[in-house]
Amino acid sequence: MKRVARSEKIRCDACPVMCYIADGKAGACDRYANHGGELVRLDPLTIIDGTDQQLVPFLTGDGARDWDGNIVRADRPFVTAVGAGTTYPDYKPAPFIVSQDVEGVDMVTVVTEGIFSYCGVKVKIDTDRHIGHERDVVYADGEPIGHVMTSEYGSKMLSLGGVEHLTGGSKKEGRVTCDALLRLCNREAVELVIGEADHANSVVVEAGKAPIINGEREKLMRVGCGSAAIGMFAKQWLNEADEVVVVDDHITGVLSEHQAGKELDVPPTGIKILGRRSTPGRYFQVAEPGTGWGGTDIDDPLTILGPFNPKIAWPGLRLLMVSTTGEQSGYYELDDALLPQPAEMPDALRKSADLIAENCEPSVCSVLFMGGAGGSLRAGVTENPVRLTRSVREALTHVSCGGARAYVWPGGGITVMVDVLDMPTESFGYVPTPALVAPIEFTLRVSDYRALGGHMDQIKPVEDLARDGLRQLDKSLHDHDPMSHDNYRWKKTDRSE
Ligand code: SF4
Repeated sequence: MKRVARSEKIRCDACPVMCYIADGKAGACDRYANHGGELVRLDPLTIIDGTDQQLVPFLTGDGARDWDGNIVRADRPFVTAVGAGTTYPDYKPAPFIVSQDVEGVDMVTVVTEGIFSYCGVKVKIDTDRHIGHERDVVYADGEPIGHVMTSEYGSKMLSLGGVEHLTGGSKKEGRVTCDALLRLCNREAVELVIGEADHANSVVVEAGKAPIINGEREKLMRVGCGSAAIGMFAKQWLNEADEVVVVDDHITGVLSEHQAGKELDVPPTGIKILGRRSTPGRYFQVAEPGTGWGGTDIDDPLTILGPFNPKIAWPGLRLLMVSTTGEQSGYYELDDALLPQPAEMPDALRKSADLIAENCEPSVCSVLFMGGAGGSLRAGVTENPVRLTRSVREALTHVSCGGARAYVWPGGGITVMVDVLDMPTESFGYVPTPALVAPIEFTLRVSDYRALGGHMDQIKPVEDLARDGLRQLDKSLHDHDPMSHDNYRWKKTDRSE
């Protein structure tokens, strides 16, 4: 790291902010500090031991335990970029370029903390409840930081961050966006407000935890849409109810009309659903979206029913209405006027509602970091950046983030997406430009590294690196091995150099 003295301060050149840092102080991002004239990276570099996935931070500060001597004997330690430092302005080689023999193949891992001006998170929230309409703006601390995307099966999706919010709005919008992204990526809870004042919803998102929607913690992800639930549980209801309606904001299912009911010889009941009929037994738009039954705004399921057809229905008809999570259910019998009257639910039907709930998975929030690594940070890997992009595309170079498996999007660039829960804790930092700092590692054969114009003179054997003061031992939960030969195209052909 370059240092330029100005009186007792030193200059950090790890990002465009170029802080002058006094002795004993940290820079604006709290990632670098001046320790007696030395610029030091405050967070420990993290190595993952490939044998039992232990995390071994080193170069750490106060409170760190002395290294117990185990890690260098462990097989295949993987040097992550967490705590490695950045290479800004990128023409310099990455902070760590380490080699090791992996099952007879000389491999090299190029490690850097990327400064991602182009980055964001995709958030998947497992819930039926209405949290906002598609395209609604998502706010944090009153600033717009993203929007609601297309819903997926049983989940609401948010797209947060991105360069438009980081740099394209006001200074405050950029700062708030960066802060929200940082906290989400580091697994903290962040309160978001979705939509405008007349239809705003509060959603607290925390990776790996259930969302809190308008103050209420969600419990279950729905078992499926209303139609799917009819298909899955139709047999449970035979002989126990004459009609079953599974209430769902997207597709409400009706047993007697549904193909499943037809095939099980469930007779027509004369029921009328107040919604847009799609195909038999499947209705759209039975109500408005909301936080009631099946992601609708209703608390009384009877409001979605029209009058029963007197030519078909009969007094005493047994009707079960249930939501897609099984959390809400009601049992009714038609009176002489063919009006549904609440009645005590038979045990068998109670059990079927419980079975729906039992088949629901717990509701969780998933936070996936997404960033573009196809820019200048490639220069820290090779003097010929496009060759790195091609090498990734050709499966000669494997990309990981903090040792976790990263999905590389097709098409141009190196656009990666990774589940933050697979990464070591506190993997992310920021710089006030504003941009997120995220670890990224490129692993490939030494021969391929040479071929793409890598910084060969900077390669250090991993054993040399390990002597630089390992301090602490932690555990990692993910099991991805970036150096496994299975990650590479050459595994299928030639394992030699
Ligand atoms: S913000 Fe952080 S990385 Fe950037 S110059 Fe200041 S101390 Fe260095």
